[in-house]
Order: sequence, then structure tokens, then C-alpha cells
Amino acid sequence: MSSYLLHSKGLAALARYVAPDTLLAFDLDGTLATIVDDFSAAKITEPVRTTLERLIKLVKVTLITGRSRKDALAILGFEPHLVIGNHGAEWPGDPDTRNQHFVQCCTAWRDQLYDQLKGIQGVEIEFKGESLTIHYRRAIEQDKALSLIDAAIGKLAPRPKRIGGKYVVNLLPMEALSKGEALVAAMDRFGLKRAIYFGDDITDEEVFKLGCVDVLGVHIGKDNQTTAAYYLNRQSELFALLNSMVLMLEVQREKEEG
Ligand SMILES: [Mg+2]
Repeated sequence: MSSYLLHSKGLAALARYVAPDTLLAFDLDGTLATIVDDFSAAKITEPVRTTLERLIKLVKVTLITGRSRKDALAILGFEPHLVIGNHGAEWPGDPDTRNQHFVQCCTAWRDQLYDQLKGIQGVEIEFKGESLTIHYRRAIEQDKALSLIDAAIGKLAPRPKRIGGKYVVNLLPMEALSKGEALVAAMDRFGLKRAIYFGDDITDEEVFKLGCVDVLGVHIGKDNQTTAAYYLNRQSELFALLNSMVLMLEVQREKEEG
């Protein structure tokens, strides 16, 4: 059962985790960026960007998003310490051979799906290199669109890993890292033993359910299904919290330097 982060128990947990040796990790859409009808129009607001730019001077910040790295960096408008794209599958400077295999898989799926789904209004295939996203938010009959999408996915070769989301279906190569595995790898990369992770969607559950590492999971929005220990009611609370985290870290730094 998830607890509200801004009550006493959650705030006490937060005070323990907010420290220079904790990795701060975020999903992008629905977490740092507001979800919009047109997925290509997502952006983060100027105050959030400014706060994040202050945060990266105080603590290691990682973004783990379903978008491609290029797309995510354009939305952010600044560069955190690490941006992992395509649900964990796309890392900066990955050996080309591995990425190429993923990209080939997704190219084959895109071509097969395009033929099968082109007649369904409001369904869009977004090719992202190492993963593929099928959007059906704008379909007139969303349930029907989803069953047609799933029928088409059932015929794909090679078989993809399917991850559902908010009016989207994501397809990844079977060997691709999940968001959870990506977070563990990011902690390893920075040599950090603890992390705080904020996310809002089904793919983020891969992080929330990690048992092997010390992660404070926070779900954006109250959700009875989530395995995150804590939740925030809405994104605006996260934006306010980012400011508080900056202040907490600045005070800690002053004390250290004091
Ligand atoms: Mg999200």
C-alpha cells in the first residue's frame, strides 16, 4: 500500500534519502513534463527546468524515459548527468553493434505493423530506434484500437517485449534492459547505493518493484495498483518538492563547507 509522500512518514523518509550520495532519477512524460494530446508537443516548464539545473549542481540526476535520448534532451533543454532512452535500452555511447541489433528489430516491427494498422484512425506508430511506441490516445474507439494493435503484435517476428502505458503500447527487443535494470546500472555507474525515483506509468513499476537496491519510489498520482512506497497527488506537488530538495541539499552543502 502506497503512502502519501507529504505526510510525516513520507517526509521523514525523504529527509533520509535527500543527500549528495543519493541518485535522483526521473521519468519524463507525466512526471517532469506534462502529458499532452500531441506526444510530440511535450515540454517542461521554465521554472521546472531552472530548478533541475540547480539540482544537477548538488546531486547526480538521471532521466530514464521511454523517449529516444535525442527527443528527451530536446524537451529538457539541459543535460542531466545521464539520460537513458527507450525504456532503458538506449545508453549514451553504447557499442554500435548492440544498438544496431535493437534498431533492426524495431525497423522490422515498424514495417510489419504499418501494413496492419494503417487503416485504424487515431493510431500512430512512433519509431524511436531501440524501441517502438504505438499511440492510440486519439483513436475514436480506444478499446477496439487496442485489441487490433495487440492482434497485430501477436503476429510480429521476432517476438517483442510488450510494455503497456497510458494509451500507448511499447515494444522492445527481448534483450533490452528494463527501466529497473537501467536504474541499477546507473547507480553502479555513479557508485551510489541509494536512489529516489519519480514516475507515473506502468513502465515505472519496473523500478518501484526493485527489491535488490535501496530505492525510494514515488508514483505521480494516487494509484491503487502501484508498488511504489509513496505517491504524490499530482505533478504540481513534484515541482514544489524539487525546490525543497534544492534547499535541503544547499543547506547540507553549507554545513559541510561550514
Ligand atoms: Mg511517464
